[in-house]
Amino acid sequence: AKRDPNQSEFLQAVKEVAHSLWPFLQQNPKYTQYGLLERLVEPERVIQFRVAWADDKGQTHVNRAWRVQHSSAIGPFKGGMRFHPSVNLSILKFLAFEQTFKNALTTLPMGGGKGGSDFDPKGKSDGEVMRFCQALMLELYRHLGPDTDVPAGDIGVGAREVGFMAGMMKKLSNDAACVFTGKGLAYGGSLMRPEATGFGTVYFVEQMLHHAKRQTHGAKVLISGSGNVAQYAAIKASDLGAKVLTFSDSGGTLYARDGFDETAMQEVMALKNERRGRLSELADDARFEFLADRRPWHIPADIALPCATQNELDETDARTLVHNGVLCVAEGANMPSTLEAVDVFLQAGTLYAPGKASNAGGVATSGLEMSQNALRLSWRHADVDERLHVIMKEIHANCVQHGVRADGSVNYVDGANIAGFVKVADAMLAQGLY
Ligand code: NDP
Repeated sequence: AKRDPNQSEFLQAVKEVAHSLWPFLQQNPKYTQYGLLERLVEPERVIQFRVAWADDKGQTHVNRAWRVQHSSAIGPFKGGMRFHPSVNLSILKFLAFEQTFKNALTTLPMGGGKGGSDFDPKGKSDGEVMRFCQALMLELYRHLGPDTDVPAGDIGVGAREVGFMAGMMKKLSNDAACVFTGKGLAYGGSLMRPEATGFGTVYFVEQMLHHAKRQTHGAKVLISGSGNVAQYAAIKASDLGAKVLTFSDSGGTLYARDGFDETAMQEVMALKNERRGRLSELADDARFEFLADRRPWHIPADIALPCATQNELDETDARTLVHNGVLCVAEGANMPSTLEAVDVFLQAGTLYAPGKASNAGGVATSGLEMSQNALRLSWRHADVDERLHVIMKEIHANCVQHGVRADGSVNYVDGANIAGFVKVADAMLAQGLY
């Protein structure tokens, strides 16, 4: 905290992990040697650079971009790129730190990293987004490689942006190696990658409910966000017989009292993915209520899936959810619940899954994309889905192993943090002090 007093998101992520690890470290002192913890909270490398680009009117803009290469202990740095005006070093350091543990949990050989820029893609033309991506790659390309650092998408970075960046990478390096995942199918992408984070989150929920002897069928589900993760979490939840009541964006919540049916979900996807519109545009539709500037958490439901952004669910929201009888909260987004909100869930005995466990299906499928590219093969949809399913089950089993309480219930926060830590720490100890 003394070294990074202004990095509140990063300190929040470190605090959560440290809290879980403390009792474990007291019982396992080998993990307090060789400055293991001090090294783990310091990224191996941070690159900050200027991105200068011209808009459609010829006007110059200057953005700031970063790549945080947090840990390569178990494999190449791996983690998405985020484009959003709120992006700063604290947010990217928290995301890279979390990513390191999450990637370890997937059981695949991937280290942790994250990057991004304060560039806002909203309202920009395709040409402007392309020029920005190309300008960014003019610097970033020298720091990437299939065995060095493999970025992907995140907030504001979807298939379009990954395509522009991966194309420029190939041009600059004269090499078609896999240095981005989340690519289009036409040039090395994996089937199921778009669905993977949202589907994986719901597979994790299934595992949690199964372990607690409850079921998904008929459950009412609140989803925040309406981007990649939210959309596919909604589709899978609905496939399993649950009723999705909400989506949201930064303008407010779209509430369907009787649930979003398939047609309504397709309409939200078309609005967001094709027209890049706002949910408020559906405010006059009789099937929905639009709750301007509100988050979904006050609506009574059985399951809550925060899938938008960090700190979008605070202590008051958590108390309201618990008061309304929520059974399970699983994070599709990274760190959407504040530390105080997490405490409320843990004390209430809510089945609560932190993002590093429940949303790991996305990066796991990115790992499968890397394997397919290395093999120069493309696996079928059902094969990738099956592998994703198996990985989510393994992550759940690992969380149970390290997080089971005396009464048989599971603290998934401790489970995920300890399971991820052990894998990274063992690799660091084996490779010596550097
Ligand atoms: P998208 O850009 O596709 O969607 C983001 C959604 O969240 C949009 O609905 C957006 O609304 C909303 N949102 C973003 N920032 C804010 C904000 N500051 N306040 C309110 N709403 C906001 O991103 P993804 O779906 O890919 O990512 C969502 C979350 O999931 C992030 O936390 C990401 O790190 C995490 N994640 C994503 C993975 C992936 O595979 N994509 C993998 C693992 C985690 P609006 O359009 O109004 O900004």
